[in-house]
Amino acid sequence: MPDFTRKQFLFGAAVTGAALAASAARATSARPTVPARPRGPARPVLIKGADILTMDDRLGERPATDLLVREGRIAAIGKDLAADGAETVDASGMILMPGMHDGHRHLWHAIGMGSLVSMRLKGLDSYQRWKMPVMASMTPDDHHLVSLIGGLQAIDAGVTTIIDQANAHFSQDRVEAAAQGILDSGVSGWFAYQMGVSASYRPGQTVTVEQANADRLGVTTPAHWAAAEYLAKTMFRGGDAAMKLALSPVSKPDLPMTVVKREYDRARALGVELVDIHIHKPRKPSPEGHQGYRGSGIRDFHDAGLLGPDFHIGHGTQLDLEELHLMRDSGAMICATPMGEITYAGWGGGAPVHGRAREAGVAVGIGIDLVLSLTQDYFEQVRTAYWSLFIEEEGRRIASGYTSTDALDFATRLGAKSAKLGDVTGTLSVGKRADLVLVRTDRIGFAMQGSLADRIVNFAALEDIDSVWVGGTARKRHGRMIDVDWVQLKGRLAEAQERVRRTADTIRFL
Ligand SMILES: [Zn+2]
Repeated sequence: MPDFTRKQFLFGAAVTGAALAASAARATSARPTVPARPRGPARPVLIKGADILTMDDRLGERPATDLLVREGRIAAIGKDLAADGAETVDASGMILMPGMHDGHRHLWHAIGMGSLVSMRLKGLDSYQRWKMPVMASMTPDDHHLVSLIGGLQAIDAGVTTIIDQANAHFSQDRVEAAAQGILDSGVSGWFAYQMGVSASYRPGQTVTVEQANADRLGVTTPAHWAAAEYLAKTMFRGGDAAMKLALSPVSKPDLPMTVVKREYDRARALGVELVDIHIHKPRKPSPEGHQGYRGSGIRDFHDAGLLGPDFHIGHGTQLDLEELHLMRDSGAMICATPMGEITYAGWGGGAPVHGRAREAGVAVGIGIDLVLSLTQDYFEQVRTAYWSLFIEEEGRRIASGYTSTDALDFATRLGAKSAKLGDVTGTLSVGKRADLVLVRTDRIGFAMQGSLADRIVNFAALEDIDSVWVGGTARKRHGRMIDVDWVQLKGRLAEAQERVRRTADTIRFL
């Protein structure tokens, strides 16, 4: 068993700057790297003859058209484009579409990917019983590795922007390492650090489930705020940076709203541009004045003046129409995670909300959430989001008016909008960031007829993705990730998964 010190395990412990620097230096030397990617103006890229699925209402679908990328942005879309010195990509017969968006996933789950799949996940409890010992057994290096790999998994699947809900990082060195991992991966979006997570138990110890749950959704300590401040001031810059910091204040469902308000005010005062929270309707209403007193708690957030255009929630399966309107009117955003949430409906937690939210005018996207147990093939997630509408009567009515473009909207145009990135990405429009996915259509079984959206939404698979550009930089070409030594990373992941599993097994619950 690794020689863990108490300092590494208790977030509340004082960690001096020197100790942190030393630990960072130690950790960094052991960490895998991906080659530096060009930051400045790169060579223009001219994609020739693609069938372009723009998801931009003004442009629609454009057969056999060219797209020019300059300095990371889409510079032109049209026929017979030319550009001196450009790298030319022959895309004839392929479909070019926007990079997709995932508004809620946990990259750190890669540490256990496959060890607990949906068919064995019986209720939220079994997930928490997996999570708690695993997170207490992960080192900062493990967090760096899985964040890096998690970001690469997204890009490989054509997902160019994500919100990574980092909710297992109970010490500053862990959250720093995870943040560095996602930055190293080159994926865009938000690193949403969930504060209030602790682990008072160590490998080899026995802990009550109640204590572990209290740690998992604990109170925010000065150390959490110090970590948040470090991330905000040192590791992330806001503005037009491709990866930005979001904060998740404590999301314990029954906190007094006075406490919740204090948390949100303080998070916003750090200058973060997005606050993110898991929202589930409590099984029984919380006491008056507490989050979840009415419905899922959105009215409580509204009355406390906390909703706004930086307010983002995951799930919200049981939001009612009034709550959706409060979200819409304040500019707040939602991410549904339909493939995982289908089971919530079976557990009495309601069907995915994305159809109703979109109809109500809320910016809403979709996400995988459970990297642990669900496919990385994002086309599967898009399809599931559509099929999941049929769980409820209202969803069936909504789905009856949908085309394939509507089904894809949650992962592209509207998806980007649901992460405050609607002006940046999500459609293929001149001036937007060149987040692009080029899809082959020559596989046996890939439909040759129908609209481009019909063919992508109903027939595409991860294996069809030929190329991915993030901000104009090619990250995948000819079906393979560029400059990613997967054999080496896979070896490291296998070692980490095995070690963490063995270590986690030494933690017992009472
Ligand atoms: Zn989640």
